[in-house]
Amino acid sequence: MDDQKRKSAVVTGSCLCGSIRFRVRGPLRDVLVCHCVFCRRMNTHVGAYTACAVSDLEIESTRTLRWHRSSPRARRGFCSKCGSVLFWEPTPVTHISIAAGSLNAPTGLKIEAHVCAAQKGDYYEITNGPPQTQRI
Ligand SMILES: [Zn+2]
Repeated sequence: MDDQKRKSAVVTGSCLCGSIRFRVRGPLRDVLVCHCVFCRRMNTHVGAYTACAVSDLEIESTRTLRWHRSSPRARRGFCSKCGSVLFWEPTPVTHISIAAGSLNAPTGLKIEAHVCAAQKGDYYEITNGPPQTQRI
C-alpha cells in the first residue's frame, strides 16, 4: 500500500479480549521497534509502535483502558481485563503511539527503525535490516 492509500484508509485495532477497539482516521507513521527497558518489561520483549495524531484516534470503549505512568516523559495504555499493551503517549502530548501488534491487517506499514538499541536485552542481537538509532 503506498503512502497515499494509507492516508485515506481507516485502520482498526483492538486488545486481545476485544474490550477496547479503536480506529485511526488519518496517516500512520511506520513502525519503530523500541528496545528500551520500559518497552521490554511491558511487552515481554521489544515494543513495536506506529503513531498518529491524537485527533485521528477514535477509541470505541475506554471502560477497561488503564494508564501506567512509566516515567515523567510518558504513560502507557493497556487493557485491565486482558493485559494487552495498546498505547504509548508522550508528555507533553504531541502524538499517540499505537502497538503495531494490536492493528488489524492490512496496515500498509513496515518497520522503519530500531530505537534505543543501546538498551537492548543481552539475550539477542538486532540482525534485521532497518537502521538502529537512539532516538525515541
Ligand atoms: Zn482486553
